[in-house]
Amino acid sequence: MAEAASNLQIDSARLWDTIHETAKFGATPKGGVRRLTLGPEDKQVRDWFRNACEAAGCEVHVDALGSMFGLRKGRDMSKLPVGLGSHLDTQPTGGKFDGILGTLAALEVVRTLNDAGIETDTPICIVNWTNEEGSRFAPATMASAAYVGDYTTDDILSRKDAAGVSVGEALDSIGYRGEEIVGARKLGAFVELHIEQGPILEAENKTIGVVDRGQGIAWYDGRVIGFESHAGTTPMPLRKDALAALAEFVLAVERIAKAHGPNAVGTIGEALIAAPSRNVIPGDIAFTIDIRSPSADTLNAIDKDMRSAIAEITARRNVEIALDLIWRKEPTIFNPKLVDAVENATKALGYSHRRITSGAGHDACNLAGVVPAAMIFVPCKDGVSHNELEDATQSDCAAGANILMHTVLALAGVAS
Ligand SMILES: [Zn+2]
Repeated sequence: MAEAASNLQIDSARLWDTIHETAKFGATPKGGVRRLTLGPEDKQVRDWFRNACEAAGCEVHVDALGSMFGLRKGRDMSKLPVGLGSHLDTQPTGGKFDGILGTLAALEVVRTLNDAGIETDTPICIVNWTNEEGSRFAPATMASAAYVGDYTTDDILSRKDAAGVSVGEALDSIGYRGEEIVGARKLGAFVELHIEQGPILEAENKTIGVVDRGQGIAWYDGRVIGFESHAGTTPMPLRKDALAALAEFVLAVERIAKAHGPNAVGTIGEALIAAPSRNVIPGDIAFTIDIRSPSADTLNAIDKDMRSAIAEITARRNVEIALDLIWRKEPTIFNPKLVDAVENATKALGYSHRRITSGAGHDACNLAGVVPAAMIFVPCKDGVSHNELEDATQSDCAAGANILMHTVLALAGVAS
């Protein structure tokens, strides 16, 4: 790489200013951001972003689900662009960094290349994916999932929010139903910078997380059937207590997840007694399970162990427990060459780093199924995210943006 390009640094103050400038679109009193996807504040930030991309010399294209692509020409336009970006929507009580850092850092990379007069061989493309968060419309990361073909565009357009407004209507109301067919704008690679949204980098005092995997997820619906009977007259040995059985199973799930650690997690987040009453022994309880691990084998092993625990508990307590796997997302394995490119950039720039697994879902995890993809994490304060208190330092944000830029330069090549 040319000398000028290998020493290039993004403008830390300019990146920090854009993060705070755009945080006014949906600013909350506690210093966070409320920018629900395709709402009026999302339109404001999109308009700002479109203008900024155009001012930086990018051609902005919008697809039928509102995802925005800012194309910076390369010397060889026959090559597929290297994509970089994230999302600009937030949770209802979200922060200033989740998604926003990766999108605005992508803009900062283009601005820096422009200032340095660097042309890349391959074009590069800044992306703002629609509805990563999934709080107004389900599912989360819907636009990138449709981009890779997991859903049809019509299916996603028909999804409704709690007020009955469809994605299609919301896109029309803010003027962001674009003309491009979803998935038609091909990318040769995709790199996403994001805050970690967890505590590991901060705890280990590392600046950069080189993300090599994303966790797989298995969701279950379960039901415990016992027998409702009088709390005063039914002797203890004769009971079929669904709640006592579920209590044992909750502890079994905790034990099983720990036994498959350190990266496996298991949560029973919902449990609903059908007709709760103080003096009735519970006889019917619905519950849910969320299991995550970066290994498909571990997801399988946990499934098996949970079913053995159920067999043991139901035989001993004379109840039934039904367990249905309702959704499974296989673990994401990010492209090894791109992961190496991120790690090499980190070493070349001298930042402390470690390999890390993404615990949360991201647009890059969807992309990884069809496009070589990678992610870069930077620490966030106390690991807090999806919260108005979400925070990250200017120097960590700048470090992440520098790694993003040098990874993209390694992939796109500097025209000489
Ligand atoms: Zn995010």
